[in-house]
Amino acid sequence: MKISMVRRADALGRVVLPEEIRNALGIAEGTSVRLTLDGGRVALEKETPQCALCGSTENLHSHGESAVCEACVASIGTLEQL
Ligand SMILES: [Zn+2]
Repeated sequence: MKISMVRRADALGRVVLPEEIRNALGIAEGTSVRLTLDGGRVALEKETPQCALCGSTENLHSHGESAVCEACVASIGTLEQL
């Protein structure tokens, strides 16, 4: 599916994502999105929460604005001092 629309940025640089695009990506109010500038294009994708330590996306526990997976939480509990 390809959707292409023209929108104007407001004075603060805000651009409203058209409903069709929000629905296609499953973006609702409060959903985090990642913007990536690549050459002359900006890619916008739904941010998938992942473990700050290993990158896993399963069994996450929130830690402030970050997340840590259950396996990393368990391994931290068994860390040895160097
Ligand atoms: Zn992890």
